[in-house]
Amino acid sequence: MARRFIVNKEDFIKNKENIYEITGPEVKHIQVLRHNVGDEIIVNDGIYMITKMTRDSVLLEYIKDAPIIGIPNTDITLYIAFLKSEKMDFLVQKAVELGVKKIVPFFSSNVIVKLDERDRAKRKLKLQKIADEACKQCGRMDVVVIEDFVSFNELTNTIREEEKVLFAYEASKDSLRCQINEMKEKNIKRVGIIIGAEGGFTSKEADLLKQIDNISCVSLGTRILRAETAALNLLSIVIYEMEE
Ligand code: SAM
Repeated sequence: MARRFIVNKEDFIKNKENIYEITGPEVKHIQVLRHNVGDEIIVNDGIYMITKMTRDSVLLEYIKDAPIIGIPNTDITLYIAFLKSEKMDFLVQKAVELGVKKIVPFFSSNVIVKLDERDRAKRKLKLQKIADEACKQCGRMDVVVIEDFVSFNELTNTIREEEKVLFAYEASKDSLRCQINEMKEKNIKRVGIIIGAEGGFTSKEADLLKQIDNISCVSLGTRILRAETAALNLLSIVIYEMEE
């Protein structure tokens, strides 16, 4: 399978029928990987042959659409309280590998990280880059979107768009197995997963979430897991069960 590069629309220009030009940061990446004229590469969702390479651009000829692989058949959105820097980076990378479709970071009362507008934009770009790299690395043919960061109030609204939401809550005794069985029976295709911050949710926040119709609380066992462990554990279970 040819190597895949994800190139922004602005850096991927159609020069004439079937001839495309890449500019911007992926040019360097293609050069570093020692690609040459005649090589076939995948750009976004197409297979192309390199016809010319300069210092600042790569010319390509379109061959055909790339086969669609690595895309889970259940759309899972991870709603994750904003974690400290390295934990968040690690979680985004691993969640993409496991098959999450979208990640929505949120700020609830116990989130420690504080970001102003500029920092938010920078963090979002960095997380999107990590997600893009992880897609390429694990051979996914889609893009995992890092959504704008939302407040807890916004979360309680956007979450209603999901078919079903699993709220991992350490104080819950409710069985994940029952919820998974019900999701399979109902052939649910859009699932949200909510994971709290290092300090969890306040009881007021947890009560608000529990009252939302499409949300079910689930326990991940009697041990309190770190947020990133809880997220990856629940994500792995849901993907494994729903992909069968
Ligand atoms: N509130 C807790 C405290 O400070 O003792 C712990 C929060 S835990 C580190 C972070 C998040 O992981 C929780 O908000 C929850 O979403 C999830 N979590 C951790 N352990 C869990 C469990 N056993 N069952 C369900 N969810 C869990």
